[in-house]
Amino acid sequence: MRTALAGQPSAPGAARTPLMRQYLGVKDEYPEAFVFFRLGDFYEMFFEDATRGAGLLGLTLTSRNKHDPQPIPMCGIPWHQRDAYVGRLLRLGHKVAICDQLEEAGPGKGLVERGVTEVLTPGSVMGDHFLEPGANNYLAALWPTERTLAVCFADASTAEVRIAEPAWDDAAATLARAPVTEWLVPEGGVLPEALAARLERVQSGLGGARSVSPRGAELDRERLERRWPDHAAALQLRPAAGAACAMALAYLDRVQGGPALPRPRIEYWDAAGSLRVDAATARHLELFEAQPGGDRQHTLWHHLDLAVSAPGSRRLRGWLERPLADLPRITHRQRAVESWLRPDAGRSGFREALRGLPDLERLAARLACGRATPRDLGALRDALARLPAIAAALAPRAEAAALAVPPGLDDLLRRALADEPPPMTREGGIIREGWDELRDELHSLAHSGKRWIAELEMAERARTGIGSLKIGYNRVFGYFLEVTRAHLEKVPPDYERRQTLTGAERFVTPALKVKETEVLSAEERLKAREHDLFVRLRADAAEHIEALLRASEGLAALDAEAALAEAASRYAWVRPTLDESDRLEIDGLRHPVVERMLPRGEFVPNDVRLTGTERQILLLTGPNMGGKSTYLRQTALAVLLAQSGSYVPAAAARIGLVDRLFTRVGAADRLGAGQCTFMVEMTETADILRSATPRSLVLLDEIGRGTSTYDGLALAWAVTEFLHHSNGPRPRTMFATHYHELTQLAGRLSRLSNVQVAVREHGDQVVFLHRIVEGAADRSYGIHVAQMAGLPPRVIARAREVLAELEAERTVDVLGTGEPAGPHRAEDARDGATRRAPQADLFDSPHPLLAELAALDLERLTPLDALNRLNAWKARWGA
Ligand code: ATP
Repeated sequence: MRTALAGQPSAPGAARTPLMRQYLGVKDEYPEAFVFFRLGDFYEMFFEDATRGAGLLGLTLTSRNKHDPQPIPMCGIPWHQRDAYVGRLLRLGHKVAICDQLEEAGPGKGLVERGVTEVLTPGSVMGDHFLEPGANNYLAALWPTERTLAVCFADASTAEVRIAEPAWDDAAATLARAPVTEWLVPEGGVLPEALAARLERVQSGLGGARSVSPRGAELDRERLERRWPDHAAALQLRPAAGAACAMALAYLDRVQGGPALPRPRIEYWDAAGSLRVDAATARHLELFEAQPGGDRQHTLWHHLDLAVSAPGSRRLRGWLERPLADLPRITHRQRAVESWLRPDAGRSGFREALRGLPDLERLAARLACGRATPRDLGALRDALARLPAIAAALAPRAEAAALAVPPGLDDLLRRALADEPPPMTREGGIIREGWDELRDELHSLAHSGKRWIAELEMAERARTGIGSLKIGYNRVFGYFLEVTRAHLEKVPPDYERRQTLTGAERFVTPALKVKETEVLSAEERLKAREHDLFVRLRADAAEHIEALLRASEGLAALDAEAALAEAASRYAWVRPTLDESDRLEIDGLRHPVVERMLPRGEFVPNDVRLTGTERQILLLTGPNMGGKSTYLRQTALAVLLAQSGSYVPAAAARIGLVDRLFTRVGAADRLGAGQCTFMVEMTETADILRSATPRSLVLLDEIGRGTSTYDGLALAWAVTEFLHHSNGPRPRTMFATHYHELTQLAGRLSRLSNVQVAVREHGDQVVFLHRIVEGAADRSYGIHVAQMAGLPPRVIARAREVLAELEAERTVDVLGTGEPAGPHRAEDARDGATRRAPQADLFDSPHPLLAELAALDLERLTPLDALNRLNAWKARWGA
C-alpha cells in the first residue's frame, strides 16, 4: 500500500451514532484499505477515505451530518458500480475492503449487521474484470539474507508460483523481470537495519503497491507443509525461499479469506539458465513500455503479441521477460515454432479455432479455490464445448491428447446451468429448468405469484378507475400500490397507507400482503436452493481441475509458439542458429519496430560482425540521426528474441549465447528520481564494468556526454580500453559515439574495429543512407542536421564559421594528443617538447601534401574525386 490511510476521525463526537461506531470498528481492522461501507443501495466512504477517494475517483464529497460543527466527510457510489471503482483504486496501487450488510434491512429493525466480505488488493485479485488478460499479476514476497534476496512471485489468478533467489547484484534485475502489482515485505523491526535498508533500495523505483507481512509469517512452515506438501521438502532446502513463500501464502489466505493457491504450479527461476536483462535495458529497448511520451506501437510487445488467447499472450510475455541462456531449451522452443511454419501445420485453422476461447487457466484457478461464479461455470461450459473443434484442428499433433477433458464435466454443466448464468451466487437465475425438481417447484410458485400480482394491477385499475395505478416493490416496504396525488380521492377504503412521496401515495391491501409473503418466501427459497445446487456443481467441476489445467497449459504453449511462427511469417524473420561460440554474426538485420513504422521497404538492413577474440569492440561513428542507436538496439533485440525462442528480423543469424545484456542509452527516465544525467550514466557504466562477463553483450550509446568534452572523451577512452583489456575473453561490445577522436583507438587496440554510418553529401545537404560500413566517420554533420531541423540560416552560417575556427585549432591540438598517455607514452608526456604523435612531423616542414590540401575546393569536390585523390596520395606517400 502506498499510503496507510488513517481511518480515525479527529472529532471525538464522530463516533456518536451506532452506525458510525460500527464503521469505525471495521476501519480499525483494515486501516490500510479504503473501506466501502454498504448503506442501502450505496457503498459509502467516510473520513479520510472519503476525502482521498473522492479525489482519486472523481466523486462528489459531501458530509454525513452537515449541521454538526464537525461534519463527517462522505462520498459514495451506487452498489452495482462497485467493481468499476474498485478496479480504478487497485490500478492506482490501493486496497479496498468491502463491508456488506449481512442481513436484510427492514422497518424497525435497528442497526443492520455488517461485516467485511472481501478484501481486494492489487496482487491478490482473481476476477477477470480487475486483471489485464495478457499479463500475469504477481504478488512478490521478499525475504532478504546477507547474500541473496529470496522472492516468491505468486499469481493467485493463474495459480502460478515462481521462486527465485538471486544474489544481491542481480536482485534488481530479477524483480524487474515479472509484472508485479504488489510487494510484500517483512514488518519493520523484523530485519536487521542494514538488510532492511538494502531491501528498500532494491525496490525503489518499482511500481506497484507495498504491503507488510505480519511478524512471524515467514516462520509459518507448518502452513507450507500442509498446503504445498509436494514442495515442502524442496523449500526446506532453501530456507529463505521458504520464508518468502510462507509470507505470500499467509498474506493471500488472509486477504482472500480462505485457503489461497490450493494447487500451485511452482517453478524455480534459475539465474544461470537465463539471459539477464536489467530494468534499465528493458526500458531502453521499449520491450513492453514505451519511453515517456511514446506510443504503445513503439514497443516490441505490440508487434510480437500475436497470440489469440489470453493465456497464450501471458506465456509469450513470460518468454520475452525471461529469455533463456540454455541451448537445449532454446532449441526445443525453436523447433516448436518451426513446426508451425510448415505448409501443412494448420496454423491458421488452429488459431481460428482458439480465438475467443474463455481464459481456461484463470477459470481453473478460481474453481480450485472455490471462487468461481455461476458466470465462470457458464464460461467453462462454453470453453469445453469448443475443445473438440480445437483438438480436431490440432489433430496430427501429439499435443491434441492433452485437451481430453472428461466428457462428464461437459455434460454436467450443459444440463445443470442456465443459458446465461449471472455473476452473483445468491441471486438465482443459475440453474436450468429440469435439473432439480424442488428448484422447479419453487420457481413456478414464485412466478405464479408474480403473475397474480400483475393481474391484480389490471383488476385494481378497473375497480378504482385510476388508469395510472401501478404495483411496485422495494426492499423496505415490499409490494405496494402507487397512486398519484391527482387521483387520491378515488382510493377505496380497504387501501392502507404505507408511504407518502412528493407526487404520490403508496398503499397495501390485506390480499396483496398475503400474496407478497407467498412470493417472497418462494423466491427466497428458490434462491437458496439454487445457491446450494450451484455450490455442489462447483465442487463437482473442481474435481476435474487437473485435466483443465493440463488443457489450458497445453493450449497456452501452443498458442505462444504459433504466435511466434505468425510473427516470423508475417514479418519475414528467420530462425537464428545459436551456439556456445563467442560470435555474433547477423546478415541483413532490421529493427523489428522501426521497420514497421517506416513505409514498406524503406528500412535499410545492416550486418553485424562481432567475435570475442578478434573483433570484440565495434566503435560506431556517424552523424546524428544516422541510425546509430537503431543499429545498437536492433542487435540487442535480435539477441533477446533469439534467446526467447523466436525467429529474428534478419536474413541469417548466428548467435553465440549471451548471458547478460547491458545497454547504456540515454538517462531521461531516471531523472525524475532526482539523479543527474551524468550520474545515472556513470552509475550504469560502473555496473557494466563490474558485472560484464566474457559471454555478455555490452551496448554503449554514447558515454561521457553529460560532462565537459575532455572529461567525457577521457572517460569514454578509458572505458573502451578497460573493456578491451579485461582479462580473458572479453564482452562483445558495440559503442556508438560522437567522439571521433576515439576512432584512433583502432590503431592501438587489436580487437577494436571502426564502423560508420554512411552519408551522401549534396552541397549543403546530407542524405542519411542508414548503411553501416567499415571505417571511421570524419565529421559529425551536426550543423547539417540542425539546418534540416530548421535553425535560422544566420545561425547556421555563423555555426559554420565557428566550426571552421575550432577545427583549425583542434587539428594541431588533437594531433598533439592523438594517442593516450599509456605507460609507454609517459616519457613523451614528461618531455615538454610536445605531446605530439609522430604524424605531427607532417606539419613541421612544409609537406607537398599540405599545398595540395590547401588548393582543394571542397564545395566542388565530388565524393568520387575525393576518393581518386586519396588513392593517388596514398600511392605517393602512404605507408
Ligand atoms: P543520434 O546520434 O542523434 O542519437 P542516431 O544516429 O542514433 O542519432 P537513430 O536515432 O538511430 O540515429 O535514427 C534516427 C532515425 O533514422 C530513426 O528514427 C529512423 O527513422 C531512421 N533510421 C535509423 N536506422 C534506419 C535504417 N536502418 N533504415 C532506415 N531508417 C533508419
